[in-house]
Amino acid sequence: MEIVLFPDPLLRRKAERVDAFDAALAALAREMFETMYRARGVGLAAPQVGVSRSLFVSNPTGDPVEKGEERVWVNPRILRRTGSVPGEEGCLSFPGIYAEVLRAESIVVEVADVTGKVERVELADFPARIVQHEGDHLEGVLFVDRLSPADRIRVKPALAALEERYKKGEKRMRPEAAEPEPAPGRARNAAL
Ligand SMILES: [Zn+2]
Repeated sequence: MEIVLFPDPLLRRKAERVDAFDAALAALAREMFETMYRARGVGLAAPQVGVSRSLFVSNPTGDPVEKGEERVWVNPRILRRTGSVPGEEGCLSFPGIYAEVLRAESIVVEVADVTGKVERVELADFPARIVQHEGDHLEGVLFVDRLSPADRIRVKPALAALEERYKKGEKRMRPEAAEPEPAPGRARNAAL
């Protein structure tokens, strides 16, 4: 699987609801996890691998050994948002760009797992941030849409450079090519 890069229109499409909880869905989720780990990310949404369906995968540790931290999110819906916290985010579809984004501090999500079992999950802090970032992907919303006016200006040249590369045919990226440059003091990989 390759990662779809900004400004591909696929990233702006609203993802379709998943209705079939079959072996193909499980295989897709598994392949997305593998792609996410190869790219050293902590979350990956289906549209980012060219599949416009409502699911994403996450592992806040980014460590493939931590299987207990893995979660597949199908047809997620955020029911409640509480508080507001700034935090740095990156996105695998925007290599090299990091910026602060305000997100709800805690959320309640209604979501199906890969077998179709629906439940309500309460999340806070970093896991809540991942779900909000990936949930946005399923709506065609990107983290650069949520930047402060100052950051918008700051990342403009980097966005223009990505647009230029895309025009030249660089529309997908092998996950191994993702090399997020950790900012000084960043505790973990924030690429989503
Ligand atoms: Zn992203």
